[in-house]
Amino acid sequence: MKKEFKIFIDFDGTITNADVGENIFLKFGDEKEVKRIIEDLLTEKISSKQCWLSLCESVHQINKDELDNFIDEFKIDPGFKDFIGLCKKNEVHHFILSDGFDYYIERILKRENLNDLKYYSNKLQIINNKLIPSFPHHDIDFPSSANCKRNHIINNSADEEYTVFIGDGNSDKSTIHFCDFIFAKDDLLKYCEKERISYFPFKNFNDVKRIMIKLLSKKRLKKRHQADLKRREAYIQE
Ligand SMILES: [Mg+2]
Repeated sequence: MKKEFKIFIDFDGTITNADVGENIFLKFGDEKEVKRIIEDLLTEKISSKQCWLSLCESVHQINKDELDNFIDEFKIDPGFKDFIGLCKKNEVHHFILSDGFDYYIERILKRENLNDLKYYSNKLQIINNKLIPSFPHHDIDFPSSANCKRNHIINNSADEEYTVFIGDGNSDKSTIHFCDFIFAKDDLLKYCEKERISYFPFKNFNDVKRIMIKLLSKKRLKKRHQADLKRREAYIQE
């Protein structure tokens, strides 16, 4: 039987080299205020949803052209397209799961001719020069990501499939507990170490591609037992 993988990829700081969402607020909001809000998120004083709401409020006026020009400065990982090519060649379904906003994800994917990629994120509109966020995939039980990444993973994978997660940060921490193979860098890597979750360290998508080729070629793979248990728990709760 053909092994089925489902791959879930974080956007900010994983596909893009820098955190686009955070940088938008550092640029257009009050820097001191923005840093304080983010600190509150990282120390779990506030949820991610509350963080985004406060950050959007911290921007009093935004000019759409200036915002678009700023977004256009962000680059994607040079190996990302190649990695997507590998997924397509092997018919592996892949999804972007972002706790950022559709506004810039859409713009960047379009620029890179990657707008056929499926993604789930929060939403952001500009109305009367204000940033108006909304959270269609929010789940109150998962405060660390306003877009509940766990639910997308559960809804888009079957029990016998291998789930792969690739990410770097705070919004991925509660999510990876439900995945079999984890690619981690930066804060997420430190978290995996601390929580003793097995992971592949990566610097860029060339690293991910190299390891993924190996996983795809293996005859036998083991699912991560802890992830299986977590998934079962999630089903029972529903
Ligand atoms: Mg990230």
